[in-house]
Amino acid sequence: MRTFALLKPEIVTYPSLCWQVLEKTLTAGLEVTRARKTTLTLAEAGKLYAAHKDKFFYERLIRHITSGPVIALELQTGDSTGGDPVARWRQLLGPTKVYRTAYESPNSLRGAFGLTDTRNVGHGSDSPQSVADESALFFDTLTPT
Ligand code: ATP
Repeated sequence: MRTFALLKPEIVTYPSLCWQVLEKTLTAGLEVTRARKTTLTLAEAGKLYAAHKDKFFYERLIRHITSGPVIALELQTGDSTGGDPVARWRQLLGPTKVYRTAYESPNSLRGAFGLTDTRNVGHGSDSPQSVADESALFFDTLTPT
């Protein structure tokens, strides 16, 4: 079983932040099975965030996610830790709204590196269907489990 994660430009632009995020990811028992660095076009970003098209923050989100490089990751839980990688990555990320991290999860990635609700480190698929759909936007096919 795998999950799909995306690191946003405010992290990927800075190698030192990027390494710290990856180190925390590995320490949390998640293994990287695929990785791709790319810069999204407006059309690709529109597909990724299609569910938010009518939200007030949509334009801001699209502008940011296309403003620099992103890293797409396929993650799995390691043999020794097991468990659901979708839940593990979302727990590691922390709440979408960065102000909540102060009392909910200061040690999460968003607690450590989040700046705003738009610049909030990364994205994580929230279901097996979104893993398949979002992975397909960045990788040819999901590698078999
Ligand atoms: P993820 O980013 O992993 O999808 P999520 O499932 O908690 O986290 P979504 O609801 O899918 O977040 O929203 C996608 C992105 O849209 C968020 O990462 C965030 O940058 C932005 N976003 C969501 N809700 C808000 C909001 N109320 N205000 C501003 N930005 C928001």
